[in-house]
Amino acid sequence: MQKRSLIPCSSLLFVAVFATALGPAVAVAQNSAPDAAAQQTDRPWMNPQLSPEERAELVLKQLTLDEKIALLHGNGMAHDANWQAPLTPLSNGGAGYVEGVKRLGIPSLVISDAAYGVRDSGANGRYSTAMPSSLGAASSWDAESACEYGALIGRELRAQGFNMTLGGGVDLAREPRDGRTFEYGGEDPLLAGTIVGNLMKCEQAQHVVGDIKHYAMNDQETGRNFVNAIISKRGMQESDLLAFHIAISIANPGAIMCSYNRIDGDYACENSYTLRDVLKNDWGFKGFVVSDWGGTHSTEKASAAGLDQEEPMSNFFGAKLREAVDAGRVPLSEIDDHVRRVLYAEFLSGIVDDPPQKSVVDVEKGFEIAQRVEENSIVLLKNRGAVLPIVPARIHSIAIIGGHADAGMISGGGSAQVDPPGGNAILAPGKGATRWQNHIWFPTSPLLALRAKLPHTKIDFDPGTDPDSAAKLARSSDLAIVFAYQWESEGMDLPNLSLPDNQDALIAQVAAANPHTIVVLETGSAVTMPWIDKVAGVVEAWYAGSSGHKALANVLAGDVNPSGKLAITFPQNEQDLPHAVIPPPPPHLRGQGAAPVNAGAPPSNYAVHYDEGAEVGYKWFQAQHKTPLFPFGFGLSYTTFAYSALSIDSAAKTVRFTVRNTGIRTGLKSRKSTQPSPKARTNPPTNPLSASLGSRASHSIPANRRSLQFQSIRESCRLSTNRLAAGTSRRAITEYSSVHLRIICLFPDRLRFAEYFFAFSEVASSLASELDCETVKL
Ligand code: BGC
Repeated sequence: MQKRSLIPCSSLLFVAVFATALGPAVAVAQNSAPDAAAQQTDRPWMNPQLSPEERAELVLKQLTLDEKIALLHGNGMAHDANWQAPLTPLSNGGAGYVEGVKRLGIPSLVISDAAYGVRDSGANGRYSTAMPSSLGAASSWDAESACEYGALIGRELRAQGFNMTLGGGVDLAREPRDGRTFEYGGEDPLLAGTIVGNLMKCEQAQHVVGDIKHYAMNDQETGRNFVNAIISKRGMQESDLLAFHIAISIANPGAIMCSYNRIDGDYACENSYTLRDVLKNDWGFKGFVVSDWGGTHSTEKASAAGLDQEEPMSNFFGAKLREAVDAGRVPLSEIDDHVRRVLYAEFLSGIVDDPPQKSVVDVEKGFEIAQRVEENSIVLLKNRGAVLPIVPARIHSIAIIGGHADAGMISGGGSAQVDPPGGNAILAPGKGATRWQNHIWFPTSPLLALRAKLPHTKIDFDPGTDPDSAAKLARSSDLAIVFAYQWESEGMDLPNLSLPDNQDALIAQVAAANPHTIVVLETGSAVTMPWIDKVAGVVEAWYAGSSGHKALANVLAGDVNPSGKLAITFPQNEQDLPHAVIPPPPPHLRGQGAAPVNAGAPPSNYAVHYDEGAEVGYKWFQAQHKTPLFPFGFGLSYTTFAYSALSIDSAAKTVRFTVRNTGIRTGLKSRKSTQPSPKARTNPPTNPLSASLGSRASHSIPANRRSLQFQSIRESCRLSTNRLAAGTSRRAITEYSSVHLRIICLFPDRLRFAEYFFAFSEVASSLASELDCETVKL
């Protein structure tokens, strides 16, 4: 039986009498000095001067076993008929609710999905901003953009009354047909980890419990509830786990969500290697592990392996966990560890000291930030004959074709879905309520945005449903822009990387009618482009968010320079991928991939063998000597840059270089800043890309494990020569690609690094020998 240390009765009495006497005024007076002091005497864990660890420990001592168990499971999901429990109505319309300990001032967790914005605003009658998809944001290569992205979501969660997010997807784009690729940060562990880590760091800083998911190897949706991801530990450590490690180190999130799939036999939510050995022991993660919704499969095994909280129900971590403790099958110390972690996350994130107050979401600010992030994320993939930007003096008529561009732009589905104001823009007003896996368009019409931007140009629209009619309009116009989409969602994978709905044929026919044809892609992942040689321009806009149309119009018209770089390789065809097709599950299990199977069904033997190990994305293409359609890091600009004077300073462990804007346009659009900070006045910003022709700046990159990422951690100790190369993408440095080691260098947080994608083919041995080799637990 647990030993309880009780709050002295006299203190409780004092609190009760005090509260009754003051009535409602208590809430208002909460922060007054005498009350705060009294609270801290009675509840020492309310002292914000103590560390989250100390505060958690103090609370833990007060809890009954029932109160502890209550912190370890959910109580249903608001809008899911299959997951209802007595306390579900308290969930504020969110994905989950964990009962707090009111008598001690420990808040309940009120949890919402929030991948690219707060979910379920439609069903809850609220409003949320949709940011561009995470893959888009990763293509900005901009940690500050990611921070703005996360902070906005954090504020909107709180305005809606939530204090915990379920965002922060960082699974690698190992399988580009994965239906959740748009929710993740691309194929490179350092880029994905840096972007998602900064996003979640700034989201949690708003005082919501942060989350990084889906840990780990949840790289496809096909059979996701039972698929066994088979990969060597080293391969996993140097790829997917590395992305998680980086993101977690940056964000220090309160929670990590374990995924549905199995990893080398064990379900991810009861996998002692990934949860206990790696996450908690090696990486020292102090927050709690929450299961994906329905991803818990056992009581004792999961608890021992390191799962701390079951969501969204209590099938294994409710009465069964209590029974297991009473019977001595789960030690109390294990329960205490789980509870301590939940409490720690609550104190760490600030939700105890600063609970959310419902308020009106800042809609205008949301539009502004969503536009800025999208402007940083758009990638210009082709620009033959400088067809872009549109020069109104030359272009008098434009044909806008397809993609419902008259109505809006498409968004990503599943639990990430953000609901558009007014409902699905391609349906009649009032008829577009979001339903699971509907294709949802936001009311962000690029047609209207371009008409507003280019008021003296004749701009006509053809829906593209009849290619002959579309080609006719294209032929009679100076420029044709085809809007093409690829819809993605949780719970399904793409059958292939082709554009759906006959869009390839439409593009080919329009391009045959007008050599000045541009394709704007609204995709969640890479796509193949059988028509690439026939079109003059290609712009990747991703899922563009609440202000995507304005950002896109700015880029097409040249008010904003495109400076995004691909965070994912675009292959020429699926045969060039590590797996030409996603292996299908056995026939009797097909179609069940998205249905939770935690009710005791035996796992199937469906497996996917990731024999490519750490060779994900560009590393695979390099190792196999395959040429992609567009490589990782690729992205054109309306201006040009020259790099010179690359050198390594071994003593300072620093790589130095000079970059010069050699074009006729300003590069990266500067972030709108109000007043320069005192620091900026003494130390002016050195970003040369916001400057004009001829501007030049020197940069230094500290060389450490975080700024240099090795394809092979172990081989990093064996670098031997001292050549290095620079360019704006891997393609730009192919002359140096004969070596088997490649190091991608990212820039320190405060620098915008999209325009400076550098690749170091080899680094001086003197420098490399100074670097720590990661210790890989095998
Ligand atoms: C998804 C998670 C999501 C959860 C709650 C699951 O189906 O995999 O990403 O957070 O549902 O909606």
